[in-house]
Amino acid sequence: MSLEDELYREIILDHYQNPRNNGVVENADYSVDGTNPLCGDEVKVSYKLNGDKIEEIKFTGQGCSISQASASIMTELVKGKSLEDADKIAQIIKKMFFDGATLEGLEAFGFDEEEIEEVESLSGVRKYANRVKCATVGWNALLQGIKSKK
Ligand code: ZN
Repeated sequence: MSLEDELYREIILDHYQNPRNNGVVENADYSVDGTNPLCGDEVKVSYKLNGDKIEEIKFTGQGCSISQASASIMTELVKGKSLEDADKIAQIIKKMFFDGATLEGLEAFGFDEEEIEEVESLSGVRKYANRVKCATVGWNALLQGIKSKK
């Protein structure tokens, strides 16, 4: 196994076993369900806004490790961001999943090295075409919520 694969597995497993921002936001402004019927993944994302900023975001769900880990990483990345930025971040990451695009655009959002490394490791999912849908469940739920506001 390459170092890259190992890192990918390690990070997925870590987030799967210790999901960040797990739960339901009380008095949430938005609550969106995402599903990937192909694999049976479910991710429910709820968040609360302060102005146009995502002040609090949590998720619950069930399904494969990739779907849950990716949702966990998603909540970390967009917490505290404006809806507009969260939308941009989600687009960049979906482009990475589907087209193998680089993550260069993420630098503008002030993420630290560890956060970028986590997202980069998620790109390992591209090797398994049918898992890309798993990795995007949480991101799609977020985007759906953002869209519903516009
Ligand atoms: Zn899955």
